[in-house]
Amino acid sequence: MSDGRVTTYLGLGGNLGDRLAELRAGLSALAGHPRLTVDAVSGVYESAYVGPGEPQADYLNACVRVVTDLAPRELLAALQGIERARGRAAGTHMRPRPLDLDILLYGELVASDPDLTIPHPRLTERAFVLEPLAELAPGLIVPDSGQTVARLCAMMRAVEGRTARRRPETLLPARAAAER
Ligand code: ADP
Ligand code: MG
Repeated sequence: MSDGRVTTYLGLGGNLGDRLAELRAGLSALAGHPRLTVDAVSGVYESAYVGPGEPQADYLNACVRVVTDLAPRELLAALQGIERARGRAAGTHMRPRPLDLDILLYGELVASDPDLTIPHPRLTERAFVLEPLAELAPGLIVPDSGQTVARLCAMMRAVEGRTARRRPETLLPARAAAER
């Protein structure tokens, strides 16, 4: 953006506690941050845990579009602060957690530092990322892949086992949803 603000897409997820309430708390913390503007919110998706280690409870995930003047690392620090405020303990990488906030895309940026990889390293293979992202930005070309989100989503759907179910709930407060 020409005013120094960048359009970013963030992933929200969690599989501990009241999962929907955690996603809503995450959204409201993002919306309340003075340097973040939440621009669009996806539906809520449920999926089975697909990573390594012990079996885990199913996850709920969503995605939001946020406009910000925070630099990538400042944004990551803000997200980690919100995760901690929701009770996420240190050392829970790939472990159950109430709220996980990831930077999926940050403008056109491509970064490959282990502390900050953008586009998010698992973006192109995870249904729980691509399905909500495709709601918000189907035509967006994912930097470094040359493919649109919709195309990546279609390719991902062709792979067996990569599914995320759309839930009827929304992240918007019940009253706002009823008035729509
Ligand atoms: P995951 O989200 O893969 O389940 P974590 O949330 O525990 O795992 O990730 C922890 C580390 O991932 C953090 O230390 C962070 O620095 C790093 N990381 C790298 N790229 C990103 C990104 N795009 N968004 C969020 N965290 C990232
Ligand atoms: Mg994370």
